[in-house]
Amino acid sequence: MSESTEAKPLTSALHGPKTSYILAGLILGAVAGVVANFAWGKTAVLADLIHYVTEPLGQMWLRALIMVVIPLIFARLSLGVAGLGDLHKLGRVGLKTILFFLMVTSIAAVLGLAMVNLVRPGAGLPQGVRDRLLATYHQESSPERAAPQASQFGIQTLVNIVPRNPMGAAAQGDMLAVIFFSLAFGVALALLPEERTRILAEVLRGLADVMMVIIELVMLLAPYGVFALLFTVAARFGMDLLARLGWYIVTVIVGLAIFEFGVYPVLIKVFTGWSPWEFFSRGMRAILTALSTSSSNATLPTTLEVCENALGIPKEVSGFVVPLVATMCMNGTALFEGVTVLFIAQVFGMHLPLSSQIVVMVTAIVMSMGAAGVPSGAIQVLILVLEAVGIPGEGIAMVVGVDRLLDMCRTVVNVTGDMLTAAFVARHQ
Ligand code: ASP
Repeated sequence: MSESTEAKPLTSALHGPKTSYILAGLILGAVAGVVANFAWGKTAVLADLIHYVTEPLGQMWLRALIMVVIPLIFARLSLGVAGLGDLHKLGRVGLKTILFFLMVTSIAAVLGLAMVNLVRPGAGLPQGVRDRLLATYHQESSPERAAPQASQFGIQTLVNIVPRNPMGAAAQGDMLAVIFFSLAFGVALALLPEERTRILAEVLRGLADVMMVIIELVMLLAPYGVFALLFTVAARFGMDLLARLGWYIVTVIVGLAIFEFGVYPVLIKVFTGWSPWEFFSRGMRAILTALSTSSSNATLPTTLEVCENALGIPKEVSGFVVPLVATMCMNGTALFEGVTVLFIAQVFGMHLPLSSQIVVMVTAIVMSMGAAGVPSGAIQVLILVLEAVGIPGEGIAMVVGVDRLLDMCRTVVNVTGDMLTAAFVARHQ
């Protein structure tokens, strides 16, 4: 099934903002936020500015990005599956995708564990700091972050992948269920004779094209949206964020940086044939969107656009692979979970032998796949990794306060991994 290119002239006529403008919005937002926090941190004026202006503006931009995700996934994934043609090819490509990202996620989890064993950021945390951090738990962990709901994770999560009602799943933003239905829809589309699906396929192509144009329109506002999001975070927390839990933050960020700038370039070179520099500069729009939204899902349309237009990945491959990996391949999250679980164990003075660390590694990999691609998605599944090795769940209290910054960084690693996987599959389909 060939993809239409009819929307091309329209979409390219829009010309999204240059990457440098988005980067400028990001840096200006962060700097202005830190300065505002320093100068007027305790004033009501700044609190009102954040509450009534920058936060709503940032959120509106973020929601506009997320708005297109469900229809886009449905249209592109079903077309992608149908476009792969036969079911053998679908199975082969699907298996390659999963095996490849599992390999990369495992490297990430191992790196995280190695880093935290080396630095031991939790070992020297004074008792007073620990108690204060634990005491903030009830204030700082909002209901949707609260971990207990995650303990329902288990066999029911598996069952829920099959939606009882696809409309209901879409309405709730249940990604895995929407993916499942779209895959089934695409398979059925491929099984029917072409003359019976031609019109439907055209409609789906039209739907996907319209969603991409909406994204381009929303991305025109990216420099302002990114400014508002970064200003809000920086003005609210200032440098205080860095002062608390300094070594823990350093361990996570250095681990993520080693992965992003040390491990990925090697994998990019070996598995995709791209020069890492070229790959990163072409993927920069998606990377910056990930950094500012802290959400793989919100970044998904941009990732898709970058994969197709900048990295030249065929539409039927990107349409199939990107929605799947944006939901399941979270290398940065796996690394983060490994570091965080061991950090909490160190703070509580618990020694985890190698066997327990292996359990942490495996659960971190599985839970990263189960984590939602939304801000702080990892926090919701963290308790399960903690429980797997008998660490008190309230340890999460210590890290929720600084999670936003780490979330931004790990989402960059997650989205880079999505592009890498798509480029790998495109080359070896
Ligand atoms: N925010 C991450 C993402 O969307 C998930 C997480 O690690 O919290 O990729």
